[in-house]
Amino acid sequence: MDRDKILLTPGPLTTTLRTKLAMLRDWGSWDSDFNEVTARVRRSLLQIIHGQDTHVVVPLQGSGTFSVEAAVATLVPRDGHVLVLDNGAYCKRAVRLTSLMGRRCSVLAFDEAAAVSPSLLQDKLTADASITHVVLIHCETGAGVLNPLQEVADVCERHGKGLIVDAMSSFGALPIDVRRMRIDALVAASGKCLEGVPGMGFVFVRKEVLPQCAGNSQSLAMDLHDQYVYMEKTGQWRFTPPTHVVVALAEAIAQFEEEGGQPARLARYSANYQTLIGGMSRLGFAPFLDAAIQAPIIVTFHAPANPRYDFKTFYAAARQRGFLLYPGKLTQLETFRVGCIGAIGPTEMEQAVHAVSLALQDMGIASGVPAR
Ligand SMILES: *Cc1c(COP(=O)(O)O)cnc(C)c1O
Repeated sequence: MDRDKILLTPGPLTTTLRTKLAMLRDWGSWDSDFNEVTARVRRSLLQIIHGQDTHVVVPLQGSGTFSVEAAVATLVPRDGHVLVLDNGAYCKRAVRLTSLMGRRCSVLAFDEAAAVSPSLLQDKLTADASITHVVLIHCETGAGVLNPLQEVADVCERHGKGLIVDAMSSFGALPIDVRRMRIDALVAASGKCLEGVPGMGFVFVRKEVLPQCAGNSQSLAMDLHDQYVYMEKTGQWRFTPPTHVVVALAEAIAQFEEEGGQPARLARYSANYQTLIGGMSRLGFAPFLDAAIQAPIIVTFHAPANPRYDFKTFYAAARQRGFLLYPGKLTQLETFRVGCIGAIGPTEMEQAVHAVSLALQDMGIASGVPAR
């Protein structure tokens, strides 16, 4: 059967037929029709964070990580000092890319089962005046933790530090209003909660810091300041744009707006999350995180205690029923993850839970109850 499997992952996600169909045409990268699509996408993106007055948005080719790397390289001067608030795998990736680009990088480490602490950030900034920028992952997709964006932004503003936010897996679903908090750069991508296809990221840069960004980047292709200046001047992307990805994103954003924008998207993902958690707990599964810090984006579950459990077999059995699960990303514990995002609703989540129950049956496991 050639029906697409449902992707219960943090991207790529299940997309609508309408979004897929938008990719069936060819576009000239310098043609005015395509430039208009780019301009429309940029205007819509700014509205989602209410950033029309304070920010510009710079699209960039590549997966989300390319844009995180570009944001750090463009925003942070070469003699800058970055502090990464680390509570998971994507934070560690941010540390690595910051160091690879030759920026001094410090880490404030937290447990991966906890949100980062604004008060410990405050202490750290007080203790070390050399820090110039803070990097925060809004929703740490590694375990699924929602970090306190507003509070972190307030601490950074009070201390006069730049703030770079990786909002990859939260943008479009969780509320972010840059009129209420000071964020120098916010990074997201086409293939996450906007339900486009993967292939481009975008970075919102605060207008006030934009001029200082010139010449910071040691990379030609990833220089967001250069990309911005060129795009403003010509309406075009500096280098070949992912045309099909951009038109698919335009179509995905049109559906996002028709659905009711961010509040409607959050409501659907929350319903997905509730359906998932309810169904999985009936099967005995236990989530890794406290509900209080869990974002309705991706859920980490403990593996069942039963010795017959093996992720590969479990994955294959769910896959056979049309659902792709995601491996866990925790250092110590055996876990797996289930995404709540994409062009799916509670009906698909009910079916996913059913697929999981059949997968357990296949493996001869009576319940998903974890060890302890
Ligand atoms: C998905 C994601 C990224 C980007 O990952 P890519 O594989 O480069 O698309 C970065 N940060 C977070 C928090 C994410 O969820």
